Amino acid sequence: MTNEEFKKYGHQLVDWMAEYIRTVENLPVKSQVQPKDVYNKIPEHAPINSELFEQQFKDFTDVILPGITHWQSPNFFAYFTANSSYPSVLGEMLTATMGAQCMIWETSPAAAELEERMVEWLRDAIGLSKEFTGVLQDTASAATLAAIISARERASNYDVNRYGLSGAPIYRVYCSEQSHSSIEKAVKIAGLGSDHCVKITTDNQFAMDVSFLEKQIMEDKKNGFFPLAVVSALGTTGSTAIDPIAEIAEICSRFSLWHHIDAAFAGTALVLPEYQHLRSVISSCDSFVFNPHKWMFTNFDCSAYYVRNPEHLVNTFSVIPEYLRTKSHGKVNNYSDWGVALGRRFRALKLWFVIRTFGMSGIQEKIREHLRLTHIFLLRLQQHPLVEVLAPVSFNLICFRFKIPGLTEEKLNEWNENLLHRLNSTGKIYITHTKLNGKYTLRMVIGQTQVEERHILAAWDLITKTVDEMNIRERSL
Ligand SMILES: *Cc1c(COP(=O)(O)O)cnc(C)c1O
Repeated sequence: MTNEEFKKYGHQLVDWMAEYIRTVENLPVKSQVQPKDVYNKIPEHAPINSELFEQQFKDFTDVILPGITHWQSPNFFAYFTANSSYPSVLGEMLTATMGAQCMIWETSPAAAELEERMVEWLRDAIGLSKEFTGVLQDTASAATLAAIISARERASNYDVNRYGLSGAPIYRVYCSEQSHSSIEKAVKIAGLGSDHCVKITTDNQFAMDVSFLEKQIMEDKKNGFFPLAVVSALGTTGSTAIDPIAEIAEICSRFSLWHHIDAAFAGTALVLPEYQHLRSVISSCDSFVFNPHKWMFTNFDCSAYYVRNPEHLVNTFSVIPEYLRTKSHGKVNNYSDWGVALGRRFRALKLWFVIRTFGMSGIQEKIREHLRLTHIFLLRLQQHPLVEVLAPVSFNLICFRFKIPGLTEEKLNEWNENLLHRLNSTGKIYITHTKLNGKYTLRMVIGQTQVEERHILAAWDLITKTVDEMNIRERSL
């Protein structure tokens, strides 16, 4: 491809991108393809000769797009959102164009220093204390892994890093039974063994029951285990439940445990002063993670990881081979020492564009709007005679099901699962599920960048109409 062609196709693509975002709500939000549909349309062998860009782009629209689930559709209410936005895409274009590796300061000083500023902006925006220092990671999973390994190294005085785990005490990590799978995964990867990721019982609001936590820690100590860390959830994935962070912090401090807070999704809400009750407790932890790539309009990947003391993190991860030794060492942040990967993307640029384009007040306004829409949807649900709301609504996720009279719990689960599949197969909305107390639970997340009131009202219409159809059919059987 020549420079002229790049320019020509680049302009065409930007036109296509703008049109895509404008009309994405008309596409089937959940991809309707079957397994191997796409694979079988891709040639078995790589082309020997150059192919025209026009042909490549045609295949993109014909073969790839039907197999895409449209996460940027305002009809996307599934999982948690993975938002993008115009400024984010523009920033990402520049990042891809420069293709800079941001492993150490010298490999792109501006990337390291913009990252340093951006994590400070975010830290102040969510009300985390200025004692915290941050770094942008790819995912919350990577950040939580960093937290668990740092905790292990702080506890072992870096002995495990040196000598391995043989001879080390049996460490245990605690989290609630509603915690994200990334915690158990981190415990496994850290070599601690998944049996030693202890899941603490939750209360009727799906938050960790701290009395069980304390009992478990004391019992484990008696039995010769070494309690290492607690991971609190600020917004679980199932129902955005909030663990009692202040109480957990107190227990961690009493037993000298590392306290990591997983706020991957809900952390963004802390930009609002309305969440002062949460902002005021988060600074009690050792480490904290939240994902601007979920609810802060910054396209994947961009996860902000904060530590009270970067020394543990850097001492844990730093390996400095000769070819990376530079004169600036010690004066600047070399972020490859702050996590697993050496090579790093320039993630801060898109974030800079997003924050400056929205302004912090613009971000707050959007989050507030999402919470308002959630409230509207919740009111509809509460007014419907067959709806059961299954968890407290702390942010913009509503967990609910339809309770059809006369059906057993098992049948209710089947009925709601059937409803979910019917809704998603229309292509008009996409919602996903979880299980709460054994109940098949529909999850509706209202946080897409482009979502408006009309989208949630249309979703509600579709849901009630589908429910009516299913009930009429059932009665006539
Ligand atoms: C999404 C989520 C994660 C995982 O985030 P990744 O960035 O995909 O690793 C972890 N914890 C919670 C609570 C989440 O919602």
